[in-house]
Order: sequence, then C-alpha cells, then structure tokens
Amino acid sequence: MDPLDVMANIERATPYYQAIFSADAQEVIGYEVLGRFQMENGDVISLGPFFRDKTVPSEYLLEVDKIIIQKALNYFTEQNCMLKVFINQSADLLLEDQGESLLELLLTYVPKGLRLDNIVIELDGLSSKEENEHLHHIFSYYKTYGIQISVANIGDAGGNMDKIGRLSPNIIKVNLEILRQSYEVAAHQDILHSLAVLSRKIGATLLYERMEASFQLQYAWRNGGRYYQGYYLHKPSPVFIENDFAKKVLKEKFQQFIRYEKRKLQALHQFTARLQNLIQPLLPKKIEMEELDEWLLSIAEKISEISFRMYVCDENGFQLSSNMVKDEDCWTAIESSIGKNWSWRPYFLEHVMKMSMERKGILSDIYSDIDTGETVRTYSCLITEGKFLYIDIAYNYLYENQDLL
Ligand code: CA
Repeated sequence: MDPLDVMANIERATPYYQAIFSADAQEVIGYEVLGRFQMENGDVISLGPFFRDKTVPSEYLLEVDKIIIQKALNYFTEQNCMLKVFINQSADLLLEDQGESLLELLLTYVPKGLRLDNIVIELDGLSSKEENEHLHHIFSYYKTYGIQISVANIGDAGGNMDKIGRLSPNIIKVNLEILRQSYEVAAHQDILHSLAVLSRKIGATLLYERMEASFQLQYAWRNGGRYYQGYYLHKPSPVFIENDFAKKVLKEKFQQFIRYEKRKLQALHQFTARLQNLIQPLLPKKIEMEELDEWLLSIAEKISEISFRMYVCDENGFQLSSNMVKDEDCWTAIESSIGKNWSWRPYFLEHVMKMSMERKGILSDIYSDIDTGETVRTYSCLITEGKFLYIDIAYNYLYENQDLL
C-alpha cells in the first residue's frame, strides 16, 4: 500500500486491540494497540508494513501513530477500561524528541481518567548500544510517571541479553514464532530458557506472544510465562472482549499440562528409586582408591542396559576412578580421566552436599553431554565417606522411556 494513500486518508487509520491474558487469573489484563487501515472496499489491513517502511518520512509515521494512539485512548477512557494499554513505539521515533511528544499526548488523557501506570510502552526490537543508552534515560524518566516498559521481538536474539538487562524492562515479550513446530522446541529451548532466567533475575514479567497452538501455550506455561497473547487465544478486534473470554480454555489446558507434568515427575521419582534399589546392594562398605576401577567393572554388567559411562569422584569433584565407558557391549577403563575435576559443573557441589546429608541418590536434569553431545541424565549417589558414584544414563534408554525425557 502506498504511504501517500495512508496520508491522504489518515482518518481511516484505526486501532485494533489484541487481548493479553494472565496465567494467574486466566483473564484479560490488557490490550496491545495495533495500527490498522480501513480500505474503501471495507477491508481492514495492517499498518505494520507502513510503520516498518524505511522510506516513509518520520513526520508521517509520527502523525499516523498519534491518530491511532488518540483513537485508542479515547476508547479506553470512554469505556472506563482499567486494564493495561500496550503501545508500540520504535526506538528511532522515540529518540527523535526524547519521548517528549508521546508523554505530552499521554498526559492529556489523565484528566479523562487514564492512569499512567496502566500504560506499557512496547519497544520493538533493540537498537545500537549508543541508542540504547539514550533509551535508558527516556525509560527512566517515563518510569517516574509509573509508565511501564516492555521489550519485544527478542525471542531469536539471545545475544542481546546484556542490552535487555540494561533497559530493565517491566515486561519481556518473547515471540513464539520461532517455535512453529513442536519439534523446534529443543533447538530454541536454551535461548528461551535463558530469557526466562534473565527475566526472573531482573524482576521482569515474561509475556509470550504470537501464540498460535496448544503446544506453544504449554511451552510458555512451563517456562515462566505469566502473560500470553496470540491468535490461539484472541485475534485482534476493533472492540474489547469479556475479561473471561479465554478462561475456560486456559483452565482446561492448565489442568492438562499439570497432569502431564505430574506424570513425568512421578516417572522420574520412580526411576530414581529403582536405580537406588539396584545400586544400593552393590555398594562396598569400604573401598580404597586403587580398587575402584575393578569394582566399577564388577557392577558394569548390572547397569549395562541403562548406562554408557560411570566414574567415581571425591566430595570436591576430583575424579578418583577411570572413566568406565561402554563400547558396543564391552566396558573399558579410560585411565587418563583420573584426577580431573568436575566441581565447576552446575549443581555439582550442591548435589554432593545433598547426597551426603540425605544419603539418597540424585537424578540430574536433562543436559547435553560435553563429549558425545547426546542428551543425557546422570544418576549419582554416595558410596562411602568422600566417594561418590556417577552413572550417565544413555540417550537410547531415556528415549525408550519417554517420561524420562
Ligand atoms: Ca508489538
């Protein structure tokens, strides 16, 4: 669509609203304002391409943006809507006047009942480091008015963690578009997981957007998503919807996810108990370091079905035995592993402490093995004072017992 057509018919620019739902209340907590344009034939098209068009002069963009925000805020205040209003802004436009004109516009609605703490400025993507510094100032200034900040379109850009941290947004929007197929979850899991950790550390709320399928909702629910948005729950519309619009589906889905998760946890618990029962009778009362390799070989046959590697460490993570590695059906000792240290691994010392105190075996989370790159879990338990057994569970075994994955 020609930008000049938009400018010549600017009164046809109009806001649409896409609801954002919360996991805790399963209700609408706010609306994102989206720019639309009414064609003469009655069709309504997105103004997204217009706003992203680099050849459109910024005065045009500002003018159309202002019309849409005004119409939206008129509607919000007329309806006495006390929910959040998400307003999209590009870094370039905000920086042009240090965010002044937008703030002035918002302030004119305060006498009409707009609460500034319901305003969320949604920044689309991140800009250069220098621009980021200026944005940081604008946002700090906005925050003194209670205005919240959300950063969007970062789902596929894990390298931007530091920038997101600097802006300290109230809300981080994660685009689920990269998870179009359920099998893509594994490939992006780590970046998305890091975002979940980051948001928790900086006290930001995670909002998953562009949700179009049940598995994406499940993903968001499992990964710290408090807010959800997307066609799966609500398509943008020119009017508001009932607050409990998606309550039924969210409730039902949550119950389904919880059942599934509980079943998995139960399976892990049972597997851990089974290993404990299997290993416990094999543990020696007392064993010298020189005897460890021989002992590992003597128990290897018993765990050949589930494991491909095992070894013994002391309480500080120094390896006391060789790596016993299964090749085909034969176990061999790799002596060069003796003396290596594993205390730097995540949770290592925490687990050692737990095994010593509680005298119980531990099954690790799922992780990628450093040598083989395979998805594994590790079972570990105390042998005798200061000696700990580590059994790496083979991917094949986990795969055959899906609940363990
Ligand atoms: Ca947006």
